[in-house]
Amino acid sequence: MIIIMKPGASEENIRNVAGQIEEKGLTVHLSHGTEVTIIGVVGDKSKLQGSNLEIAAGVDKVVAVTESYKLANKKFHPEPSSVSLSNTSVGPGSLTVMAGPCAIESSSQLMETAFAVKKAGATVLRGGAFKPRTSPYSFQGLETEGLKYMKEAREATGLSVICEVTSARAIEDAVKYVDLLQIGARNMQNFELLKEAGKTGLPILLKRGLSATIDEWLNASEYIMAEGNPNVILCERGIRTFETATRNTLDLSAVPVLRQKTHLPIIVDPSHATGVRAYVEPMAKAAVSAGADGLMIEVHPCPEKALSDGPQSLTFQEFDSLMDRLRPYASLEGRTL
Ligand code: PEP
Ligand code: MN
Repeated sequence: MIIIMKPGASEENIRNVAGQIEEKGLTVHLSHGTEVTIIGVVGDKSKLQGSNLEIAAGVDKVVAVTESYKLANKKFHPEPSSVSLSNTSVGPGSLTVMAGPCAIESSSQLMETAFAVKKAGATVLRGGAFKPRTSPYSFQGLETEGLKYMKEAREATGLSVICEVTSARAIEDAVKYVDLLQIGARNMQNFELLKEAGKTGLPILLKRGLSATIDEWLNASEYIMAEGNPNVILCERGIRTFETATRNTLDLSAVPVLRQKTHLPIIVDPSHATGVRAYVEPMAKAAVSAGADGLMIEVHPCPEKALSDGPQSLTFQEFDSLMDRLRPYASLEGRTL
């Protein structure tokens, strides 16, 4: 349920309504917009029966929220949110590019990539230290050693750094070294992991599950937010369909659909969505045009030798040209890159 206050409602009106709700043991989330304040109510709303909040001073209307996700819901927070990082923010007005190797392979591989993607205009360095591979015999990541290289790259370049976490133990380790945590597609509905990630308070990039609907994805984001962590970024990375020409099918319509349903920032990963280097640029441009707040792109110093996802990784040169060609698209959308 949300309570929309009248444009001129006073602080006292707002406190009074919030107080009545909290008295019944429900949780209140305030969203102060430019025009009006919205009071979001989370909990068993049957406890509010007989409260007559509709006629309380300063209240415009009371609206039921039928969706099961509340904190992520645009009705709770009509204006788009931004997630702040030390060197940038992800949200309206900017196009945040997160780039780097699929997996961290060595200190020099990561450091070299960090400087190259920074020079091209990326603001976040990506790299996996815990790799959720389809085969248990494939390279599984450097784990803590990789996290240390991430921190060194952050210190050397000033980029924010992001790593995927696949377990509670990985979270405990990663919080010491990185700025953002990534929950990968395979773990989107690992609810215990989502709760643990939420508790860290760090920004969380939540990738869409391979076969997840948009509503399931938003409910997954709600698990993180319900831990008191509003810093969630959604990442569309392609879904599984009958088509085999691409690794996954990039569901670009998810961007405008999400815009209607949620205030959370949305980024698109054309690398994992297509699995093919040649398709990354057209889909990156399309994602910007569809209204994405950012992109995640795999870049490797020598893709032929990459330990994972070489076929979809761009060389430094290719990434640099992509960034140049993306700038006019970003500017058309009113975003700085
Ligand atoms: C990744 O970003 O490294 C990754 C494994 O992506 P996804 O979870 O989207 O498959
Ligand atoms: Mn990858």
